[in-house]
Amino acid sequence: MAKRPRSRPSFLTVQSTRYLSPNFIRVTFAGPELEGFPKNHEGANCKIVLPRDGESRETFEAHFALDGPEERVHPIRTYTVRSFRPDALELDIDFVAHGDEGPATRWAQAAGPGSFLGFLGPSAPKITEFYADWYLLAADLSAMPVVEATLEAMPADARGVVLFEVPTEADIREISAPAGVRIVWLLHPDTHSPSTAQVDFISNMDWPDGVMQTCIAGESSVIRALRDHLHNVRGVPKKDTYISGYWKIGLVEDEHQKMKRAEAA
Ligand SMILES: Cc1cc2nc3c(=O)[nH]c(=O)nc-3n(C[C@H](O)[C@H](O)[C@H](O)COP(=O)(O)OP(=O)(O)OC[C@H]3O[C@@H](n4cnc5c(N)ncnc54)[C@H](O)[C@@H]3O)c2cc1C
Repeated sequence: MAKRPRSRPSFLTVQSTRYLSPNFIRVTFAGPELEGFPKNHEGANCKIVLPRDGESRETFEAHFALDGPEERVHPIRTYTVRSFRPDALELDIDFVAHGDEGPATRWAQAAGPGSFLGFLGPSAPKITEFYADWYLLAADLSAMPVVEATLEAMPADARGVVLFEVPTEADIREISAPAGVRIVWLLHPDTHSPSTAQVDFISNMDWPDGVMQTCIAGESSVIRALRDHLHNVRGVPKKDTYISGYWKIGLVEDEHQKMKRAEAA
């Protein structure tokens, strides 16, 4: 990717889109803008900048704005690098199809070959060292990209459990994981109500001895309960846990990020 000022995105072009399941869309970007994209960054987060409805690519590229008057600012959202194929210069990002209220989801649901957006990042990969005796991974649809990327990067002899919480049975699909990692699917049809399915499962689990590492992300109230359980009930050291709220019921991403910053301060 050509060097650019920090706030200047790359402008990526959609090659294809397909539904991996009823509520999950894979968007594949391709083209020379992906030249130099870093390898082995699957699971890292990135920022996407969305054109306004009906905005032409020329206007978007010439006038994109990340700050300034509200009517000029383009929405920016956080997503995950699901896969990058350097030889083909193809990048996959997987989007939850959660309705029409969010600009990122609206964009993905309407996207097709030739659609475009701005791209910033990626950040550093989330988990680079795998040293645990067993692993606990958990995700709703929004975090399936980071957890699937983590499963692919783990040692082949890794042992553990992965929970995937999805809204419908039709969202259950084939997942690649080391043979020693048990895959458990949990259903939570109403994504606008807080779920206790993951914390209930984890609270009742047999807890093996040894060092544990986690890769857990999803809706904020679920994450809050899981974090409390891991750190305060099970005593898992913070250094071994990647656990992160990716969205919050009732808040748009900017409000959720603001809440996270206030809580961390
Ligand atoms: C590090 C990180 C990585 C992420 N990676 C991914 C990813 O790869 N794929 C992905 O789909 N999401 C991912 N997310 C979550 C994504 O950023 C949020 O879901 C974001 O709010 C989506 O933007 P939007 O414009 O669709 O909705 P917004 O405008 O932000 O919100 C509109 C409404 O939709 C609700 N909403 C937001 N997300 C969901 C959801 N998942 N299910 C149901 N309702 C929702 C909000 O509560 C709000 O009421 C990631 C978040 C973080 C922090």
